[in-house]
Amino acid sequence: MAGEGNAKTDSALGKILLDQGVNPSQIVLGEQVHGTAVAGVRSFEPRLHPATDGFITGLPGIALGVFSADCVPVFISSGDEKTIGILHAGRRGTADGILSKALGLFASEWGVLPKDTVIHLGPHIRKCCYEADLSRELNGQARGRGVPEASLTDDSRCTSCSPGFFSYRRTKTAERMVSFILIKS
Ligand SMILES: [Zn+2]
Repeated sequence: MAGEGNAKTDSALGKILLDQGVNPSQIVLGEQVHGTAVAGVRSFEPRLHPATDGFITGLPGIALGVFSADCVPVFISSGDEKTIGILHAGRRGTADGILSKALGLFASEWGVLPKDTVIHLGPHIRKCCYEADLSRELNGQARGRGVPEASLTDDSRCTSCSPGFFSYRRTKTAERMVSFILIKS
């Protein structure tokens, strides 16, 4: 939520993380470019991955984070919660198949098949305020890869017309929310 202020500032990000019991030195972030690069994270370095819009890890204690203000934060986990991922999926990354690509990597690199994967779409701009139906496209990619319908959940809120979110479409803001996922160590 936007209540703590712009998560792209170290002070707000640090407070958000500490409030959730995460040390700010534990988070890995990407230089988001609306691409489809999904990095496998096997150490704390680098803290900032160049030209990266998604992450996968099996290491406890590393928080994988993405910034957004209308784009979709996509949370991915194996059913046993031993492999996790997060994506920043805007119109371009979604159209270019970032979720399908990430699910392919879950299978090929981490041994987690789509049928054993659960996915949650975080708050993002929705059809009420935007010409593209991002959640529909992402759901289609997940189903196309074989993720069971029952394993797909979606935060129904629209960042543009629901209160409490930063929305680039609504205010052209440079402020961002942060989403993160980690395996508790
Ligand atoms: Zn809306």
